[in-house]
Amino acid sequence: MYSSSSTLTSQEKQLAIAEKFTEILELLGLDLEDPSLQKTPQRIAKMYVQEIFSGLNSNSFPSLFFIEAPCSEQMIFVKNIPIHSMCEHHFLPMVGHAHIAYCPQKHILGLSKIHRIAQHFAKKPQLQERLTREIANSLSSILRTEDIAVCMELKHFCVLMRGVQDIDSTTRTCLLKGQFLHSKKQEFLCQI
Ligand SMILES: [Zn+2]
Repeated sequence: MYSSSSTLTSQEKQLAIAEKFTEILELLGLDLEDPSLQKTPQRIAKMYVQEIFSGLNSNSFPSLFFIEAPCSEQMIFVKNIPIHSMCEHHFLPMVGHAHIAYCPQKHILGLSKIHRIAQHFAKKPQLQERLTREIANSLSSILRTEDIAVCMELKHFCVLMRGVQDIDSTTRTCLLKGQFLHSKKQEFLCQI
């Protein structure tokens, strides 16, 4: 999926992307001498590399700390985690919330780390289905448990702004593993 340009430094990527965006804006007929547009290619390049596609840099994976789990009977549920991602088909935003639950084995994660892991995988061109699976698989291996549930509701701007231009619909994906396929399923689904 990733080309050899992944060996460039962030600075080199930003310069190259800004150059390409200059061409795109000129091809669209925009006047880059206009003071309002002059720095737009650099602004887009910086935003791509440092913010909305920062998850393409594997060094950006959050550092984690664990706490010993007080008991493994409890379900830990984090609701309404804000998600801002980009659809890889149209390079338009997908925004909404993720709801994540797990049953701990030996240890639990600091709560904000669940947010950070979800947001790490969101910060690259994505498909909602893959994003849901990547978060679930990552948490499953980090927490060494199969008992993970990830549900996500996102609004896709490629549906909202173009094509059918539907401003109301949201897309829900749900990936249930381990106990969440059986005994914990109702408890999880009732809460979202
Ligand atoms: Zn799309």
